[in-house]
Formats: sequence, structure tokens, C-alpha cells
Amino acid sequence: MIDTHAHLHFTEAFDDAAEALARANEAGVDTIINVGVTPEDSRTALAFAQKPEYAVQKTGVKLFATAGLHPHEAARGDAALDGIADLAEDVVAIGECGLDYYRNIATKQQQDRALRAQIEIALEYHLPLVFHVRDAWDDFFTVLRDHPKARGVIHSFTGHQSEVERALSHDGKLYFGLNGIMTFTKDEAQLEAARLIPNDRLLLETDCPYLAPVPYRGKRNEPAYVPQIADFLALLRGSPREQLAQETTQSAETLFGLEP
Ligand SMILES: [Zn+2]
Repeated sequence: MIDTHAHLHFTEAFDDAAEALARANEAGVDTIINVGVTPEDSRTALAFAQKPEYAVQKTGVKLFATAGLHPHEAARGDAALDGIADLAEDVVAIGECGLDYYRNIATKQQQDRALRAQIEIALEYHLPLVFHVRDAWDDFFTVLRDHPKARGVIHSFTGHQSEVERALSHDGKLYFGLNGIMTFTKDEAQLEAARLIPNDRLLLETDCPYLAPVPYRGKRNEPAYVPQIADFLALLRGSPREQLAQETTQSAETLFGLEP
């Protein structure tokens, strides 16, 4: 299985990254995509993925990185966006980028500008995007309509049926990244939406160190907990666990252009 959204390179959270990689391998997670949130952090994610001691021959886990400016950081503007573009040739996706009106740390205008700029970088380099969207669906889909070819994953998807439908009607292929939230949400409509996602548009992610699934809720999350999320979703969606693991892996390989 593939953890399509991890921050295993956050050194404050993971002083035991080598052990976390061993536990991931043991749990059947053989690929991890480390997602950057600023240019500096994206560089760290890339350096982490390229560390000789974490090479797949040693850990059994393939590591990749993305480069992005998180909506919370959108006030940093053009210099930071140039820093993201500088990394585009070495990463598998642009993001996480998007709109977050829940915390509103940067203004809506700053977030809009940063999102549009990163979509353009992704299109120029033929890369998919990792989207973070919170309380901002209408504006998000407006931006997407201006970029019909943009494709990617809506990470940590917590939308309802109408968001699933709107995402599926977008021209560029959009995937839905589901994580530990599903295992503890009380929002029935979120769970219903998670059932409606087509088999070939579903991705697994942890968003570690955040959002640990049940039974680890409240603890530090890590890639080795992907199976808990897969088990929960297989039950929720009524599909065999093996099939779900296989299909989500295939979808991640397709979206991020990874070798099977
Ligand atoms: Zn994240």
C-alpha cells in the first residue's frame, strides 16, 4: 500500500524515522510520499527521500517528495512560489496547496493567488497537484474551472456527496485522499460521501504526524497505520480489503507517475 500524504520528514515529530520506515515496511506500506508545505520544508522532504540510509534497498520503502506552499503560508507570496517552481523537476507533485477558510491564516486573496500560481507550475511541468481544501469548496471549484486540465488529489477529503460530484465532473482527473478522520468522524454525510467515491479514484493517506486513526487516536500518527485506514474503508465501502489495497495502490501509481 502507498501512504500518499505523509510528513515523515518533520524532524520534530519523527526523531525515529528509520524505525518508522521499518514499521511501515512490516505493515505492508512500501511507498511513502512526503508532502512539503513551504519551499524550505519541500527541500527537506526531497533530501529525506534521497538519503542513502533510507534507500529502498535498505528499508524496503520507496520515498518520494512533493513541493508546495500550504494555504496557511500563502502570505509569503512570489518569492516562496518561485522556490516551489525551482523544485518542480525533482518532485512527483505540486502541493500541498489550496484554500483554508477555517483557519484563515492568510487572506482569501493571498490564498487564491498562491493556489493559482501552483496550478500553473504543475501544468507547466505536467505534474499532479495535492490539494488542501477546508471550508472553501465554492471558491476551490471556481479556481479549478479556470484550469480544466489541473489534476490531482483532494487530500484529507471530508466533503459530502455534492463535493464528490463536483470533483468527478471536473475535466482533469481528481482523486480523493482519505485518512484517519474517517475512523473517528461523527459526520454521517462524510461517511456516505466516502462510500460514493469510485473505486478508481480513492487514495490512502495518513497525513502523519497528524490525524492518527482509531485505535491510535490522539497519538502521533505514522505510515505504519495505513492498514487501519484501509480496514475501516473496506468495511465502510463493502469491498474486500485486498481489492481496496490493490486499487488504491494502482491509482496512486497512475496519479503520481510511479513505477509499479
Ligand atoms: Zn498534510
